[in-house]
Amino acid sequence: MKGYCMKCRGERDIAGATTVYMKNGRPATEGKCPDCGTRMYRLGKAA
Ligand SMILES: [Zn+2]
Repeated sequence: MKGYCMKCRGERDIAGATTVYMKNGRPATEGKCPDCGTRMYRLGKAA
């Protein structure tokens, strides 16, 4: 699962990706950038 890291300004694999659900019930994926540790968030379920 890849996401966009704001800090690295590029695509990174989301480390420790977990599926979370937003208030409206839609799935999202949350994790950390493996390079800088910045929290990453992406809409859609983790593979
Ligand atoms: Zn990063």
